[in-house]
Amino acid sequence: MVSVEVAERGDLEITLVLRGVPLEYANAIRRAAMEEVPTIAIDYVVFYENTSALSDEIIAHRLAMVPLKSDSALERYRQPEDCRGDSPPDGCYASLYLEADGEPGREVTVYSGDLRPQEDPEVVPVYSDIPILKLGPRQRVSLEARARLGRGREHIKWSPAVVSVLSYIPKIKVLAERCTLCGLCAENCPSKALVIESGRLRVDEDRCTLCRQCVKVCEPEAIELDWRRDEYKLRVESSGALRPERIVLESVAQTKRKLLELRRELDRVFSSVGVSA
Ligand code: SF4
Ligand code: SF4
Repeated sequence: MVSVEVAERGDLEITLVLRGVPLEYANAIRRAAMEEVPTIAIDYVVFYENTSALSDEIIAHRLAMVPLKSDSALERYRQPEDCRGDSPPDGCYASLYLEADGEPGREVTVYSGDLRPQEDPEVVPVYSDIPILKLGPRQRVSLEARARLGRGREHIKWSPAVVSVLSYIPKIKVLAERCTLCGLCAENCPSKALVIESGRLRVDEDRCTLCRQCVKVCEPEAIELDWRRDEYKLRVESSGALRPERIVLESVAQTKRKLLELRRELDRVFSSVGVSA
């Protein structure tokens, strides 16, 4: 039976314990979080004026890496596959404008918060304090940045997850009849999962990385190290573009979408050669 437990949750990260989910499925969801879940990001920039020290290309690249709020954009903008080619249909792009001037006698820093949305106030930078460029006296930049939905497998700027990892859940058993409390395992444990405290060996499985260092140094072979079958920890950290729980839900939806695509293609191929399922 499948069950899910929230082990940790913050504004930007979530850790789930998945039980009864085969490793291949859990890994597909982990990968989809990085590569398949769409977000909105700046894809091209029209420069009206740029007399700063940075080239158009560098500014465009820096703008592309600014995370934009994507929660509502997922429902309101066309999917990445609909927006390819030189003449994409309406509903693909959101525009943001940036205009800034240098000032006499001081350097002006232009931040992500200086990007102004044109028609859609919900597509704005997640953070307003990312420096984009600096302007000296009599320097000026004026541009239109156009953002669209995309996927992380096309470019990392569209990936909503900065971290998406799956890990085993350790099981540590110390055989009391063999343990001499020499403390060697605790000294060699890099993550402090083992600690000698008040004459006892205390075990914190949550910290264990299954590196096996303790097993190697324990001469009486008092430690049995294993991991739980069909139980995994999925940790997702968001760039801020989407809430972490939304990333996980969309990862499942995107994995299902890919499987349905595969199913449709199989149906087409089989029917073209006269094979019925
Ligand atoms: S190294 Fe082995 S014997 Fe020594 S404290 Fe650890 S478990 Fe016990
Ligand atoms: S396997 Fe590594 S991390 Fe886990 S308890 Fe042993 S030494 Fe520590």
